[in-house]
Amino acid sequence: MRGTWQERFAGTPDVLRGGRRQQTIVPVLDIEIGGDEFVTMAGPCSVETESQLMATARFVCRSGARILRGGAFKPRSSPYSFQGHGLAGLQMLARARAEYGLAIVTEVMSECDVPLVAEYADILQIGSRSMENYSLLEAAARSGRPVLLKRGMVATVADLLHSAQVILENGNPYVILCERGIRTFETALRNTFDAAAIALLKHVSHLPVIADPSHAAGHRALVPALARIAVAAGADGLLVEVHPDPDKAWSDGEQSLDFAEFGAMMDALNPYLALRPGALGELAGARPMEVAG
Ligand code: PEP
Ligand code: MN
Repeated sequence: MRGTWQERFAGTPDVLRGGRRQQTIVPVLDIEIGGDEFVTMAGPCSVETESQLMATARFVCRSGARILRGGAFKPRSSPYSFQGHGLAGLQMLARARAEYGLAIVTEVMSECDVPLVAEYADILQIGSRSMENYSLLEAAARSGRPVLLKRGMVATVADLLHSAQVILENGNPYVILCERGIRTFETALRNTFDAAAIALLKHVSHLPVIADPSHAAGHRALVPALARIAVAAGADGLLVEVHPDPDKAWSDGEQSLDFAEFGAMMDALNPYLALRPGALGELAGARPMEVAG
């Protein structure tokens, strides 16, 4: 198949760069996602306790994160694993927001919970397992909150763009695309981090693109390297799991950074961020490119 990216992704016209749509900037409090600032979202996989969340919020804020992540509704593979605190978790997030001024991103798993989660969250996260739950996408779109859309673990780039198109089509222009690793034949890591998808998404779409190196790697030792790769590939930001004591985390401890590791990762990113072209400058002039293959 040959043709332009516009032809290849013709089913998702509104998410493609072109014409008046050169770059979407998603405003969240005083933060602009997709603009010149590189935005780090960090926090625990699950909201566990008030002290765990507050300590993490304080540290990630001091280290330069602008947005606090934390799951109150958790999609767990096992029905016997911790499923999240629900409303109590949202209330803890709200207290961390009030205390540290961080915006909140948290997952919503069910269409019925959208109004409740939208009351507490600044950004609604659609998890990997929900990327193709179209009624959830429609409800999230209509909430009026920006939507962080994670790539499904067996979703192609085109599938991800289709889900983004559903949100735009339902009246919400503020979608943040998130590469979080996909399933491949390689099983050494939790997922295969598709850095090329970040470069491709930045090339074809005007929507902000962030990376989740934590779920991609599945091992904390590799998270900083994947974060640097994400910056080099053109990502607008990161979503990273951080925990005061990862070995005692109620979920995803093996891929969570402790405070020292998170601080070191942020410091090590600086030279890479300094080389960043800036989301607007270089890409605004991007021309449709011929596709081979
Ligand atoms: C999460 O962010 O904790 C999560 C469950 O992510 P994903 O949907 O990418 O698996
Ligand atoms: Mn997690």
